[in-house]
Amino acid sequence: MEVAKITSSQQAMDMEARYGAHNYHPLGVVIARGKGPFVWDVEGKKYFDFLSAYSAVNQGHCHPKIVGAMIDQAQKVTLTSRAFYNDCLGPYEKYVTETFGYDKVLPMNSGAEADETALKLCRRWGYDKKGLPENQAKIIVCEGNFHGRTITIVSLSIDPDAYKGFGPFTPGFIKIPYNDVPALEKALEDPMVCGFLVEPIQGEAGVYVPDDGYLKKCYDLCKKHNVLFIADEVQTGIARTGKMLACDHEGVRPDILILGKALSGGTMPVSAVLADDDIMLNIKPGEHGSTFGGNPVACRVGIAALEVVKEEKLAERAEYLGKIFRDEMSKVNSPMIEKVRGKGLLNAIIIRPTNGKEAWDVCVKMKEMGVLAKPTHQHIIRFAPPLVISEEELREAIEIIKKAILSFE
Ligand code: PLP
Repeated sequence: MEVAKITSSQQAMDMEARYGAHNYHPLGVVIARGKGPFVWDVEGKKYFDFLSAYSAVNQGHCHPKIVGAMIDQAQKVTLTSRAFYNDCLGPYEKYVTETFGYDKVLPMNSGAEADETALKLCRRWGYDKKGLPENQAKIIVCEGNFHGRTITIVSLSIDPDAYKGFGPFTPGFIKIPYNDVPALEKALEDPMVCGFLVEPIQGEAGVYVPDDGYLKKCYDLCKKHNVLFIADEVQTGIARTGKMLACDHEGVRPDILILGKALSGGTMPVSAVLADDDIMLNIKPGEHGSTFGGNPVACRVGIAALEVVKEEKLAERAEYLGKIFRDEMSKVNSPMIEKVRGKGLLNAIIIRPTNGKEAWDVCVKMKEMGVLAKPTHQHIIRFAPPLVISEEELREAIEIIKKAILSFE
């Protein structure tokens, strides 16, 4: 059987529509190549990537150090499974735990798997350490959350697109409004609660930045009630918001930290759950795992990805460049711009529909002009370029974004 050769963007889109499940609605661009903050389509047109694969490509496309580590390891051994040891996992575990300051790491692949792992760890701690009666543990989650797509995780969602038609759902969760400390305080009165799972900024919900002090207040309340504070930093972590972790903005050290996406610089699925021994060692051999979690290529890539973040000072860059983005976009005088918000280089513009044009139309216009971004929900556009973008490149992209928005007047 012959493998199809793609010679045009249209051909690639038609093929996906014909042979792939229709579980995404992509913007009409077919990316064939990427480097740093740029991608090129099949016809060779160049674009600024302002999505970074939902913040997985913080280190820029095809970073030579990360790709180098990947190739080097791929030529030695790629997968051993955890039935045997491999010579990359130990050094990776040491590097990642020392980087983030935890006793232990549990390596997984996707963000959703890492979230599931954190929920299991939390429940197990609830039984083994907090002494909850079997099958009674509860975990508090926030409305508007996005933690992935598994059955348990969509059980936490209030977005019908995520959960409708996929029941029955996993019990044992209490949903409270995001950015609402009194709601947490009340929910914590339930003695069966063992954890609070929160995104430091709700990315998928539209880059909702909670009030200053929210995370710290939540953390303190969790401590008061002997409840684990679990931070899902899959999207906000690894320098995106201007610090290594978004929780660092408030000096909060989560009891369980969930990482994914940029942990591999966007080269392959690599996720991790970090915690101290008191939490991590409750799970015993055979009780959790993954064939690919902790594979040698992922370990090498994970170290390289974190080294790049440190060596290239990506957190500081995100902090500095993010201010420029928000300042410049706030100055634009357009009825379409309802609000600009974000932290570091995780930002969003809330679009007020004007002359029948919405966020999707703005994204199509920007694409034509050479900037790729995607609406989240109907009226919000997220702007999250790779953190390696230079100030000059950022300013060039800002001019394109401004022109695209102003073109609808
Ligand atoms: N958690 C958060 C905060 C996310 O933003 C995402 C993905 O966007 C996930 C978890 C799920 O990650 P994955 O798509 O790798 O399963």
